[in-house]
Amino acid sequence: QPDAIFGARRNSAGLDLTDRVALGEVDAAREAFRQTKWLATPLPLADAANETTLVVNPADPTDIVGQVVSASTAGVTAAISAAIASTWPQTAVGTRAELLRKTADLYEANRAELFALLAREAGKSWADAVAEVREAVDFLRYYAAEAEARPLGAARGPFVAISPWNFPLAIFSGQIAAALVAGNPVVAKPAPQTPLIASRAVQLMHEAGIPKEAIQLMPGGPDVGTALTSDPRIAGVAFTGSLPTAHRIDRAMAEHADPKAPLIAETGGLNAMIVDSTALPEQAVRDIIASAFQSAGQRCSALRILYVQEDAAERTIDMLKGAMEELTIGNPWHLATDIGPIIDEPARKKIQAYVDVHAAKVIHAMKAPAAGTFVAPTVIRVGGIEDIPEEIFGPVLHVATFKAEDIDRVIDAINASGYGLTFGMHTRISSRVKKVSAAVHAGNIYINRNQIGAVVGSQPFGGEGLSGTGPKAGGPSYLPRFTNSHAPLQAS
Ligand code: GLU
Repeated sequence: QPDAIFGARRNSAGLDLTDRVALGEVDAAREAFRQTKWLATPLPLADAANETTLVVNPADPTDIVGQVVSASTAGVTAAISAAIASTWPQTAVGTRAELLRKTADLYEANRAELFALLAREAGKSWADAVAEVREAVDFLRYYAAEAEARPLGAARGPFVAISPWNFPLAIFSGQIAAALVAGNPVVAKPAPQTPLIASRAVQLMHEAGIPKEAIQLMPGGPDVGTALTSDPRIAGVAFTGSLPTAHRIDRAMAEHADPKAPLIAETGGLNAMIVDSTALPEQAVRDIIASAFQSAGQRCSALRILYVQEDAAERTIDMLKGAMEELTIGNPWHLATDIGPIIDEPARKKIQAYVDVHAAKVIHAMKAPAAGTFVAPTVIRVGGIEDIPEEIFGPVLHVATFKAEDIDRVIDAINASGYGLTFGMHTRISSRVKKVSAAVHAGNIYINRNQIGAVVGSQPFGGEGLSGTGPKAGGPSYLPRFTNSHAPLQAS
């Protein structure tokens, strides 16, 4: 049934993990894929191989999840040539959209395997894994619907999609879906930490009928990324990841003979939440916990600094400590786990070193398991956002207090960080909501709720300033950026 928000398209239902039947499906998935070993290779040019490395479960160093064969730079050049020769831009928009929808159906049909990959390769809790498969499916169907909703500009040419390990299926699929449905052949480079699920996703795209030259996979490290982004034949790059990498890509693209190729980049944030003394403490604490610690804080939307009004600070922080003690940290293979591991050892070391340096200011910390790459959720007291040197991509929450009369200064400080991704506010004063939301520079503003988990089609996601170039993913302005609006429109 068409409805006011989604029109003819609806987001997928996912799985309710409190439901007995759903839990049966989850148990079956855990049984079936407990020991599976997956293999990722360059696709379809498996002979473009360079070196082979093992992929290990971040929560359990004894669990080998599979192997990845990375692409050679010669393989990258061949992939771009094959993309250029592809007839994909001549495929009708309706056919492309249909192939994305078929891919979405195949993701759903194979979701048990995708859940298991997300848990074992990416360290996702089952709740996060379920949400991620939903989001991936929603991106595929949403961009299909958007492409058919209004005339599109001409295809640009071969696009490079470079995706992060923290949403190795959803963001990976979203970038590819947008570029493909706009008529661009895609060469995708998954994050080096999560090539197995990317490889499985591309296999499903091929199985759905998307031609092999239209979507190719080039697993590998920074050398593969550099080979892709410095090839002057590419027509654009969709990137989600760190700010320094975005700068590197930008510089590589600036060297191209044709400087018009767009870079669509989503980077990080120093996301703040303000809780004033009129907020409902139970609700605020629940939303602080989710925003700061869900996915072990490894979301670019995650809460990094909480500003709590002085008169509510003691109560809120006490409740926060209590709520942290209720969290279960461990291997996501166990359904009770709330907080999984950090993606790999270099990332764990970096976050732990930051926590250790600030040990004197730690207000509260949980305990982390010894094996696997875990960091315990930790709360650190700071004077304000200016005390945080950079985005700490893990379960580390900074807390500052403010006096009611200083709220404008708090907003100024948040804006002065230069980032502008998510912002949260808990208050029962509606005039304050209006004023603060107008003043704060952030792509996604959330009032009296958590500030993670933007929903495709209803909450387009993306930031401003150092947080990204826009346009927002999962919203109506995203697709046009993948087309050339000066050229004749494509017939749908
Ligand atoms: N879209 C995700 C969210 O709203 C974050 C994406 C990211 O971390 O890159 O939580």
